[in-house]
Amino acid sequence: MRRPLVAGNAKMHLDRASVRALLGEVRASLDREPARAEVAYCPPYPLLDVAHGVLEGSSIALGAQDVHWEESGPWTGEVSGRMLAEAGCRYVIVGHSERRHHFGETDLMIGAKARAAVGAGLVPIMCVGETEEERESGQTKIVLAGQIGRGLAGADSVFTAEHLVVAYEPVWAIGTGKSATVPQVVEAHAWVRAELALVLGARTADQVRILYGGSVKPQNAAELLASPGVDGALVGGASLESASFLAIVRAAGGNEPAPSR
Ligand code: PEP
Repeated sequence: MRRPLVAGNAKMHLDRASVRALLGEVRASLDREPARAEVAYCPPYPLLDVAHGVLEGSSIALGAQDVHWEESGPWTGEVSGRMLAEAGCRYVIVGHSERRHHFGETDLMIGAKARAAVGAGLVPIMCVGETEEERESGQTKIVLAGQIGRGLAGADSVFTAEHLVVAYEPVWAIGTGKSATVPQVVEAHAWVRAELALVLGARTADQVRILYGGSVKPQNAAELLASPGVDGALVGGASLESASFLAIVRAAGGNEPAPSR
């Protein structure tokens, strides 16, 4: 049984006061009425300490938006997995399309980051997804296979189901208000899981959670999250307000009792 995960990605938004207020509201709601989904929130690095202060002792996990592949060294501007673990993080996003496209991150870099995250005791949320051009030219399956194959190659012993989450995020749906349709999501998630099976083995692939990301909103969350093979959501814009984030969290399996993981 794969417990749904709903993770918020604040990107380069919020400040100390607004993240405190937002997460305080999310925590209060989930303390009052626990959700079936696991919940995580990934603020910008300088806000991790405030977020940790609000979330400590709650059911909500803290995450970061990126990590470097080395443990330490002369890497100005970078942050290691150990630093994030010390800051209270459990999750870290790697390979977000904004990192791939604006900062030139390659599948090999992203794979190294994912390995480093696991080495530091974190769970990487590895993002994959095609551009609009790639989808329109029929390349989606090949693109996903390449991102997963090159990113995770040779590391089947590193990535157990507890130590990897994959997010399918079609680039054309991120921040555009244009979500993928349910059939597109179901098909892509099946391809992602089949590719994970080739790299990590069928047993692990069957247990790894695959999130959908790309303009998930309260209005479309229930439909997307109920789709076969969708194990939660990575939420950008709608995670910046407690009401919309909580509505998505509640849409992920309603309020049935939480399974063991
Ligand atoms: C994201 O940044 O991962 C994302 C899915 O953004 P949005 O929900 O705003 O499309």
